[in-house]
Amino acid sequence: MNDIKEIFSLLNNPTEEDKALIQKAYDFAQKAHTGGVRKSGEPYFNHLFGTAKNIAELGMSSTTIAAGFLHDIIEDTNVTPDELKKEFGDEILFLVEGVTKLGKIRHHGTARYDESLRKLFVAMSQDIRVLIIKLCDRLHNMMTLEHVPKEKQLRIAKETLEIYAPIAYRLGIKKLQRDLEDTAFKYVYPNEYEEIRKIMKAKREKIEIELTKFEKLLKKELAKNNFTDFHIDHRVKSMYSLFKKLKKYKGDVESIYDISALRVTVKEVADCYKVLGIVHSNWRPLPERIKDYIASPKLNGYQSIHTTIFTGDGGIIEVQIRTQEMDKEAEYGIASHVSYKEGLKKKTTNPNLLWIRSILPGKNMSGKKTSTSTDVPSWIKELVEYQNEAGDEFIDDIKNDFFEERIFVFTPKGDVIDLPKDSCVIDFAYAIHTDIGDHISSAKINGRFLAITTTLKNGDRVEVETKKGAKPSFKWIEFCKTTMARRKINQALGIIK
Ligand code: MN
Repeated sequence: MNDIKEIFSLLNNPTEEDKALIQKAYDFAQKAHTGGVRKSGEPYFNHLFGTAKNIAELGMSSTTIAAGFLHDIIEDTNVTPDELKKEFGDEILFLVEGVTKLGKIRHHGTARYDESLRKLFVAMSQDIRVLIIKLCDRLHNMMTLEHVPKEKQLRIAKETLEIYAPIAYRLGIKKLQRDLEDTAFKYVYPNEYEEIRKIMKAKREKIEIELTKFEKLLKKELAKNNFTDFHIDHRVKSMYSLFKKLKKYKGDVESIYDISALRVTVKEVADCYKVLGIVHSNWRPLPERIKDYIASPKLNGYQSIHTTIFTGDGGIIEVQIRTQEMDKEAEYGIASHVSYKEGLKKKTTNPNLLWIRSILPGKNMSGKKTSTSTDVPSWIKELVEYQNEAGDEFIDDIKNDFFEERIFVFTPKGDVIDLPKDSCVIDFAYAIHTDIGDHISSAKINGRFLAITTTLKNGDRVEVETKKGAKPSFKWIEFCKTTMARRKINQALGIIK
């Protein structure tokens, strides 16, 4: 158990330095967390190993994997940031502190906040690798959720479905999205989960037989056309995505053709169209089910050709054709780019996209330079080109991006309060409760006493103190940005009712 060789085997051409760094983080974390136990009674180190393994499975660098081992060390052990820096340097300290900060964000549990919370996560993480570590940390927690008390399970699983999985989707990391959704599914919708499980169980055997038979025939046809450099496998739809699709089709399983799909991967883009030609000349395609996401990629960057064909003996099968590179990108999305160690080739200058750029390694919001830089993923470049066509949810989100307009600050408990840019402590107090606003006497921002008229910044932790005798003053109004605070102050002063 917790065999480091398991992690080494997931690395792509690791150097001796890569292995040494991971081994050092492994040893350091194991020692620092000695005696730490999880809810299940197992050593805490199992969680760190599980998280690091999830990160390695995405093909991330040794630095990110090492940070995965160390991600709870500041929060849960006596190791100080200084010691961590001394042992592992600035970059790993930066990643670990980033993950620690994200851990302080709490979910309100209301859909209204979900989008803000997702944006906050992205903003706070400052570096895409922090976000990836956090997602992998959550995935391991989901994998072991059965040991958590019942009343907490639902909250954590919901948060996973509403916040974490959509972030993985946005980043194009399908593998993480699928695993997060499927582990959360059974806690959030236990009855539906059971239903889907039964459907899958009933269909699986028939699907396997059908696919294997078709695969043989297709291989034969490809060989006949002197096509040899390809790889075929098949995938079955994940439980949660089948559940979502079934809802869309009002429960009619028979009208869902892509419960399973045959996937053909080839070397070159031109080969994709050759394979499509061979498929269509042998099996009749269903009209309007041919999708060329190679020519027009999906907005999260997904590229592939999809077609659905009649097998000729009553079956219907979806065939997906793509290059190996597209296949890697489809599974790992942005994660498949951050492991590259290339210089930045092209800068995105569109201000609407800066938030994405700002979380790529190499440059982050704090202006602190991290050593690993990366190329801008193609889907981000494409987003710039798609800008004018809009219409898609994602684009609208970015267009109305309220990063520029909104800030997110924390209560001492870690709840998120969403305020207009340049809001001050008084706005914050009124956003919590009228009584607090009306009687605010002093405030601490990030632990320091500061004037209640102080302008707040993204990520500030704000504590306010109230006194019975404290009263609003007319002067406050000019500092307040929210209509609510202004109105309440006017009311308290008797200017309006
Ligand atoms: Mn953790």
